[in-house]
Amino acid sequence: ITSKLPQVGTTIFTTMSALAAEVGAINLSQGFPDYDCSPELIELVNKAMKDGHNQYAPMAGVKALRNQIAYKTQKLYGASYDPDTEITITAGGTQAIFTAISAIVHPNDEVIVFEPAFDCYAPAIKLMGGVVKSLELEPGNNYRIDWAMVKKLINNRTKLIILNSPHNPTATILHEQDINELSAIVKNQNIFILSDEVYEHLIYDGEVHHSMARYPELRQRSFIVASFGKLFHATGWKVGYCLAPAYLMHEFKKIHQFLVFSVNSAVQYAIAEYLKNEDTYLNLPAFFQQKRDHFRNGLAATQFELLPSSGSYFQSVKYGHLTDESDTTFALRLTKEAGVACIPTSVFYTKGTDHRVLRFCFAKKQETLDDAVNRLLDFK
Ligand code: GLN
Repeated sequence: ITSKLPQVGTTIFTTMSALAAEVGAINLSQGFPDYDCSPELIELVNKAMKDGHNQYAPMAGVKALRNQIAYKTQKLYGASYDPDTEITITAGGTQAIFTAISAIVHPNDEVIVFEPAFDCYAPAIKLMGGVVKSLELEPGNNYRIDWAMVKKLINNRTKLIILNSPHNPTATILHEQDINELSAIVKNQNIFILSDEVYEHLIYDGEVHHSMARYPELRQRSFIVASFGKLFHATGWKVGYCLAPAYLMHEFKKIHQFLVFSVNSAVQYAIAEYLKNEDTYLNLPAFFQQKRDHFRNGLAATQFELLPSSGSYFQSVKYGHLTDESDTTFALRLTKEAGVACIPTSVFYTKGTDHRVLRFCFAKKQETLDDAVNRLLDFK
């Protein structure tokens, strides 16, 4: 058959996790915790199932959960979203991203993507006949967005800008100045925003998360994507959500209903109950910052050069001073020889740009992180 995505292979996350399992490496590649989610949350899922919540949820998601999300969004970002018309529960962040892109991108529409970029954006854009306009961010510049360059890319075919803060894989965050520049660029333009905010609560050193929800001018043109897998250490449950103003959500739901119809009922009831305790998410920055600091302290003694990590559960390192190997070659060797799997970041660039940067996930038990650091210290 004629491939619709001729350039696309198997996602790096599947490849590296499979290799880690095959060679018995510590898996710091794909981003997921190696510890379990809260027993209380598991109890709530059990209870929801015993209470008979085993049939289809409403198409947009369980009402109690949408209400809790509306409350949380109001409280954190001062934005009111109508649970009936502006919130949809999705099968994880990835489905929300695909659905939003499908809803907005027409053939030949241009979409601005900052690279390195999470690997599901571009394929969705291409499937819709859209054109990826990528802008590369430089590690030397701490991956800051050059808004003057963004301005140059804008034309009357520009339909969407995809943002991701905290950012995967670079662990950078948007600052107020970025918001001001973005606001000036989209003002009076027919440009929409897809804001991937799945790491919204994984933000460190007392920084604030600049959700699009905070800014009325941006919010009215934004799809915001969030993830309970990231929030509650349960990536396998595949439950997330999308926030958007009613006129955008109306189109989103048309696609959502035929893509998945609705999402796991019992898990939604459980999360709705669990979210009533705000500490479940307010404690997350401290929980992950402790892991980040511990991992960084350990890595500091290795031969790698640490890049900053301001958010997300990723830590990147540079290794170019150690070898001429490409990041993919080096990541494969590190997995096999050191027994620590990571993600080579060139896979997040359309052009395969290789800054000799590797990404590690630190959402792991302390002993796992220590074990990984020890293996990296031994690696020559
Ligand atoms: N978001 C996670 C990561 O970046 C995993 C995503 C996936 O496996 N699809 O590692």
